[in-house]
Amino acid sequence: MKKHIFQMIIIVFFSFAMVVFAESPFVEETMSPSIINPSSSGSFASACVSVKETSFHSVLCDSEEQLRAKIENEFDLRLLDGIDGTKWTKEALEYTYQVLSSLPKYFTIWPELLIREGRSTQGPLVGGRAEFKTLTWSDGRIENKDVFIYLYNISLRDPITFKQTLVHEFAHCYFMAHQKLETEWQNLFWKKGMPEPPSVSDYGNSNLYEDMAESVARFVSEPEILRVLNPLRYQFIKEKVFNR
Ligand SMILES: [Zn+2]
Repeated sequence: MKKHIFQMIIIVFFSFAMVVFAESPFVEETMSPSIINPSSSGSFASACVSVKETSFHSVLCDSEEQLRAKIENEFDLRLLDGIDGTKWTKEALEYTYQVLSSLPKYFTIWPELLIREGRSTQGPLVGGRAEFKTLTWSDGRIENKDVFIYLYNISLRDPITFKQTLVHEFAHCYFMAHQKLETEWQNLFWKKGMPEPPSVSDYGNSNLYEDMAESVARFVSEPEILRVLNPLRYQFIKEKVFNR
């Protein structure tokens, strides 16, 4: 039996909403969940009315409490409001539920907490953070997890940014629990200590871990673009991460 333990070591990964800022300057005052524009491209539907025959229908008509309960029960997660006073809104809950529902369970089971906070102490460009304190598992089964994901206001700027941020942080958790994949990724793309071919973003080029998380986020949110622009990473993720 193979046992893996990460204990008393705090490992932290961030994600940055870089793509967005390359195109439009960040004005923090406008970054609240209430400005989410559900009709922008790649959006999630967000109105309860006139949504027919879609799997989202029941979610969109749910109350905030029902959404919370669904996320916590279906994904074995706990949702926490931030110590800075930031609260989960209905929009954030809808977005979270819809993204998590689109992912396989084996990918989403690793974190214990999803925490909403206003702004990272690491700077306004940070959309999310994954923090590992304790994670023990054996043969793929979790024995104990003390793994947190923080979601900052900027991640809720638009549906694509949110999806990429959430998937990015979940990908860190997934790879932390699947270190064989990390080694394979390193042997394929980081043989000489730098990414070859380059990653999907500048942030992905910064190190192996961000490369993996950025690439998985891109695979989920923009698979066709990744397939064309970065076929090797696309193929790896398709075969080794989402083909179980
Ligand atoms: Zn990251």
